Amino acid sequence: MMLPAIARTAPAAFGDPVEAIDTPALLVELDAFERNLARMAAFAKEKNVRLRPHGKTHKCVAIARAQVEAGAIGLCCQKVSEAEAFVRGGVDDVLVSNEIVTPSKLRRLVALTAKARIGICVDDPQAVDALAVAAVEAAQPIDVYIELDVGGRRCGIERVEDGLRLMDRIAGSAQLRLAGIQAYQGSAQHKRRPTERQAAIDLAVRRTVMLREALTKHGAGKLIVTGAGTGTFYLEAASGVFDEIQPGSYIFMDRDYGMNEWAAELPPFENSLFLLATVMSRRASHAVVDAGHKSHGIDSGMPAVAGRPDLSYDQPSDEHGQIFPASPEAVLPALGERLRLIPGHCDPTVNLHDWLVGIRDGKVEALWPVEARGAFS
Ligand code: PLP
Ligand code: MN
Repeated sequence: MMLPAIARTAPAAFGDPVEAIDTPALLVELDAFERNLARMAAFAKEKNVRLRPHGKTHKCVAIARAQVEAGAIGLCCQKVSEAEAFVRGGVDDVLVSNEIVTPSKLRRLVALTAKARIGICVDDPQAVDALAVAAVEAAQPIDVYIELDVGGRRCGIERVEDGLRLMDRIAGSAQLRLAGIQAYQGSAQHKRRPTERQAAIDLAVRRTVMLREALTKHGAGKLIVTGAGTGTFYLEAASGVFDEIQPGSYIFMDRDYGMNEWAAELPPFENSLFLLATVMSRRASHAVVDAGHKSHGIDSGMPAVAGRPDLSYDQPSDEHGQIFPASPEAVLPALGERLRLIPGHCDPTVNLHDWLVGIRDGKVEALWPVEARGAFS
């Protein structure tokens, strides 16, 4: 039985002025977005590292394609359903930079190898065995990356010996190819001071070198070392150990990343993502906008009100957010007035939207469906 397609109307039409966009809507300022895209691509080229941007940030085929056109080798993502959306959209090299252990999901992942180069991370022999079963069934090879815990304390092996054991297990299946090492230091990305991030990545690099040397001594061929995010990519690239970087948020940025301190020679990427909201109720003490939990992610903190440092957003509920004066001179927005919020955290915000509305010079120029929106399986 066919399930009914879910098609939601876009909040705007091509050529509409920004004033006509229905709210809440997620806007992408295309000039800033394109500068971010080009800047990271130029950085990777200059430093001679492969750029594999993280698709979890945008979940959008149009953006994935733009990243590949700008020089990215392919994409990475966290979920099989995201990989399916990207491969369906024509991306021919996708790394699931994450552990997948469910046999049905592994079958879906291996099926994608008919159309694209696919990689996956492992940190447990049982997961290698499950992957091998799926790959043998499909008679398709797949790239396997051993994930090392480089300080994030999430997934990944903790000891070099575990890596050697995984390598032997991978070698036991003709369809599994040991492609490299996943060494992503997630907890370093939002450390505010550059020196703190540097210290965390120095440690990550040392751990990675230990594993790489042991695997090489054990007989491994060329190993791709991959990892890094928007907060630290320049450190991994400078290490001489990382072959590939995986930044995601750089295309949009968010308030959380905006609170990182950046060295003068590395200015922050620009905010290009804004949640457009309308004041739907107004009283002397505060205004209420039509953007609450259902339209943005506040797990990393509240959004900022763009261009209005005198206003603060707080006390979100499902469909509402409250705007308070942040200084004695602040003038609260009027009923019907529209505000641009800089999301606290870009990735979960995008995941809530069906459309990204690309604007330039105050007009709608692009309407990008977020194909992998809600794709969490
Ligand atoms: N690589 C992995 C494995 C990740 O989990 C993430 C984000 O969580 C990234 C890269 C990208 O990080 P960011 O969006 O902070 O650039
Ligand atoms: Mn994130």
